[in-house]
Amino acid sequence: MTFELPARYAELQARAREVASSVAGRAATADDSPTADPAMTKALAESGLGKLCVPEAYGGLDEKVDSLAVTVVRESLMGTSAHLDGLFAMQGIGSLALSLAGDEAVKGEWLPRVAQLEALAALALTEPDVGSDLRSITTAISEHGDTVLIEGHKSFITNAGDASFYIVLGREGNGHSLVLVPARTPGVTVQRGPRLIAPHILGEVQFRAVRVPASHRIGERGGAFPLVLATLATFRVSVAGAAVGLAQAALDEALRHTTRRRQFGKALAELGPIPTMLAQSWLEIEQARVLTYLAASRAARDPLGNLDMSSMAKVAATETAGRVTDRAVQMMGRFGLVTGSTIERLYRNARPMRIYEGGNEVLLGQLARRLVKLHDAG
Ligand SMILES: Cc1cc2nc3c(=O)[nH]c(=O)nc-3n(C[C@H](O)[C@H](O)[C@H](O)COP(=O)(O)OP(=O)(O)OC[C@H]3O[C@@H](n4cnc5c(N)ncnc54)[C@H](O)[C@@H]3O)c2cc1C
Repeated sequence: MTFELPARYAELQARAREVASSVAGRAATADDSPTADPAMTKALAESGLGKLCVPEAYGGLDEKVDSLAVTVVRESLMGTSAHLDGLFAMQGIGSLALSLAGDEAVKGEWLPRVAQLEALAALALTEPDVGSDLRSITTAISEHGDTVLIEGHKSFITNAGDASFYIVLGREGNGHSLVLVPARTPGVTVQRGPRLIAPHILGEVQFRAVRVPASHRIGERGGAFPLVLATLATFRVSVAGAAVGLAQAALDEALRHTTRRRQFGKALAELGPIPTMLAQSWLEIEQARVLTYLAASRAARDPLGNLDMSSMAKVAATETAGRVTDRAVQMMGRFGLVTGSTIERLYRNARPMRIYEGGNEVLLGQLARRLVKLHDAG
């Protein structure tokens, strides 16, 4: 890792910034929308950035998905719009298992369309009664001749209702399997929502006696978790990138406000603890950014071998985003509380990142166990 991003990544970052600024005028509307914003989807498709989400052999840019590329792009998108960031990220998160272990014909059918954003991807793991403890899911998968049957209820699924397919985690015998279910398959129904404090394309998805060809199975029977883990290992660090981008946008808002607004004859940026709050935010963002780039560059080489560092970056950057947005609201006084203002949107959008892609407490628990294990091993 160098301390400067290599030219290829700086170029991708610049391209992502361009797309973000081209749709910035729609950010407030799109971030409030429970369905995919057509203008943002189109801009993202035209940018070619979707090609970072699938392998070269299926219309992607790189031989395999590059965590550093995805991370720097998310950093550039999220500061402008969580909706835009979500549209981009889910194309990778919702299709990586297929890229790694899908049937050739099924990959050929979907992945090039994912790269072009002609098909929106979704990954359906969570259930009404199961979040972090994924091994307890109850969705059932069973094979019958040349078809696979899926029965179950998935909850809080990003892109539900707009997705073209769902990669579904289910229980099969004593293990867990993954199956790709095209959204139009009979028996698949979606109820949009719930509406979050930071709105999201989200829905509940029911699978009632859903049958797909056996070729739609992804990986081996009982082989789901290594593929889920590979997905997390590739994309978890990109949440850190998004969090850094969002925190930077919040600091920029706070700076704009505190350097212009004067109280007691001085700019707010010179008053009382405000300079310290600004500097503390800057410091924490730079710390999080360095860790994020380092973790992402390692994950790009070996995602699973560097999962600990990706988890550290995810926790550090999302907690930073929480603190920085909170401080920014405080520094902006009553203006930070106005519904519809940029800072209010950033404050809300920072919140879910500490919960999804591995709750921060769950990740800290895993890191602690790993640390003790390494210590015991000498
Ligand atoms: C905006 C958004 C989008 C989402 N999109 C998707 C999607 O596309 N697909 C999908 O499958 N899911 C999705 N989810 C669900 C998400 O993956 C879950 O919210 C997440 O796994 C946490 O599960 P939970 O919310 O049920 O919390 P719980 O598992 O009930 O945890 C509640 C709290 O307890 C903590 N906790 C839980 N277990 C432990 C432990 N062992 N040690 C210490 N602390 C613990 C957690 O960190 C959390 O703070 C989405 C969620 C959100 C908010």
